Amino acid sequence: MSKIFLFPLNSRRTNRSSGSIDKQNPILANYYSYPPAFDTDRQNLPLSFDRPQTSHSLMNSHYDRNIKEKIDMCDETPENWSCFYGPLNDIFETKPKVVFLKNKEGYLFNEMEKFFLKAWKDLSKESDANITVREITRIENPQIFSNYTTERKNLLKRSTKEKIKLRETAVDLMVPSTLRQYLRLEINEKYLFHGTSRNKALIITNKGFDNRVASSGWFGKGIYHAHSPKFSHHYTGSENPRYMFLSRVLLGVAYDSTSHAGKSFTTPPCKTCKNTSCENVDHKKTFDSIIGNGSEYVVYNGLQCYPEYLFSYDYN
Ligand SMILES: [Zn+2]
Repeated sequence: MSKIFLFPLNSRRTNRSSGSIDKQNPILANYYSYPPAFDTDRQNLPLSFDRPQTSHSLMNSHYDRNIKEKIDMCDETPENWSCFYGPLNDIFETKPKVVFLKNKEGYLFNEMEKFFLKAWKDLSKESDANITVREITRIENPQIFSNYTTERKNLLKRSTKEKIKLRETAVDLMVPSTLRQYLRLEINEKYLFHGTSRNKALIITNKGFDNRVASSGWFGKGIYHAHSPKFSHHYTGSENPRYMFLSRVLLGVAYDSTSHAGKSFTTPPCKTCKNTSCENVDHKKTFDSIIGNGSEYVVYNGLQCYPEYLFSYDYN
């Protein structure tokens, strides 16, 4: 276990700001209100050719600091992890650790169990399903998280130059605020479900999601998540206990689709022509994800997902 601090834990905690939710958040508020209005002192300054340039660069540095702060925060483990914490670069342990919430963090287990059952009931017509949550584990895998956070930082940097349309999923507001606060909503980072077999759950816990071995679905060869646990349940096999991840997913700039993309399709569509197999060399950018039929969330790069929580449950 590596616990290396470059500065006291307390200062780190107070310096952190949450990624949630709305414009009440000072960082997001700054982000949305940029450029800041001129104050009266500045407006009254005599005009010169230099002045606007100076104040403009001041505004830029103010803006850049916010982005830089957000990007720096990506270099640390999530604040609520308990086996690994601090700067990711200082962690040399490569083996993941799992935290069994039922005994270790009972309050979080209760909150997440309630959330899981509510999301199941509210987002499907199955109100009388007999579900028993056996355990919820948090997967603390610094190596995979570090890869994930590289993608996260790239998106944050891009968000300074490119408008990312904010997306809402049906489960967004149900996710306990204790978890939601860690998301960077301005790049559409979401918590979403992914049901799978026991064996695949083990592989994903150790190695993360891998688009290279993803199976083909309606929207091609990608990694599929859903906002409804009932929907993801279809992929958990037929034997109890079932396994379902609550992953972080970076949707970035998402493309809405209802049409069959083709099973061999391995990247998101081209941003210019919306084609799934664009060969135009002048079309350089693709979307980051597909939202299929408003309920499935597909990414084509395994590093855009982090399998943070694993539910095991019985379904009868
Ligand atoms: Zn194209």
